[in-house]
Amino acid sequence: MNHSLSISAILYFLIISPKCLPATVISEYKTLEDRHSKLDPSVKTSSAASPIIENYQVSFLNSNRESDIIGLSKNYLHRFGYLRPQQKVTFNNELDDELESAIIQFQSSHGLSVTGKLDFETIAQIKTPRCGVADVISTLHGSKRYQYFPGRPRWTRRMHMTLTYAFSPDYMIRYLSFSDIRAVFKRAFSRWSSVIPVGFSETEDYVYADIKIGFYSGDHGDSEPFDGILGVLAHSFSPESGKFHLDAAERWAVDFGSEESTIAIDLESVATHEIGHLLGLTHTPIKEAVMYPSLKPRERKTDLQLDDIQGVQALYGSNPNFTMNSLLESDIATNHAFHYPITTTKFFNIFVLMLLLKLLYF
Ligand SMILES: [Zn+2]
Ligand SMILES: [Zn+2]
Repeated sequence: MNHSLSISAILYFLIISPKCLPATVISEYKTLEDRHSKLDPSVKTSSAASPIIENYQVSFLNSNRESDIIGLSKNYLHRFGYLRPQQKVTFNNELDDELESAIIQFQSSHGLSVTGKLDFETIAQIKTPRCGVADVISTLHGSKRYQYFPGRPRWTRRMHMTLTYAFSPDYMIRYLSFSDIRAVFKRAFSRWSSVIPVGFSETEDYVYADIKIGFYSGDHGDSEPFDGILGVLAHSFSPESGKFHLDAAERWAVDFGSEESTIAIDLESVATHEIGHLLGLTHTPIKEAVMYPSLKPRERKTDLQLDDIQGVQALYGSNPNFTMNSLLESDIATNHAFHYPITTTKFFNIFVLMLLLKLLYF
């Protein structure tokens, strides 16, 4: 089998990486405030200093040797479920059959061209900020749509299921108003409840809430430590855990009209995605779907797509008020609201990708 890196990937690193990899190393960033201001000068955080944790995006930024890229890719693919745990002990910086197989599965799970190589498109996807929930590798070859956690868990209640949710009294972010955060989550939950017969209700009783929401930094006690700015953005757990954790290190935004940071992450998009996990969905290879694993800075993806709806309705049934016509009407309204018609979506995505690459190689 041919294990060589593609010409485009090699050219990419030889030409772009050296001038885009400043001599700065991550250890220079003493505080979160320092990191934010270095990654994006427009951000002026006022939060208390907190230690910075390495993440794979930063590691990629500081690597331009082919062998380093391969090693980092192996760690990433192991982290998100593409290389078996027992293989970790034998990780090296060489291309091998296991890596090629993992790359093929990764490309298939992300709707990429399946080449089995660490080509430009694959490495760009690896560098994109994403959800921390590991991808479920389909045993059916090349699943092209929504998937579930092993065992297909779901919430079980009697008729008229209503799940409660609450915000942690201790683990919140302070630069956004609580009322704005509440409004974002209310809209995110309502998107899912509009398509399935499940209601969501906010409660102040955090201890007994079905779904517990909080913003955490680094190691927060569930063996899934957050990694600082970008990289992993959030994670949540399968039914009926209800744990909903967001990385406090991100620059969360509720309104890109007033948030100028180029590395800001849309809170509502991530909230909508994580609720899908809480209900029992895992990641889909459909790029337009809410349950696609990655989200670029300043990207907004809040409208459930057909793949999301079919997946969650197969678990819970349909909301009697939901019709496909209402979905189409909402699509038209959304595209009008965002001032870009469907025909320009592809162009818009290319623009976002270029913006991301610029960010990563400032
Ligand atoms: Zn996810
Ligand atoms: Zn967690």
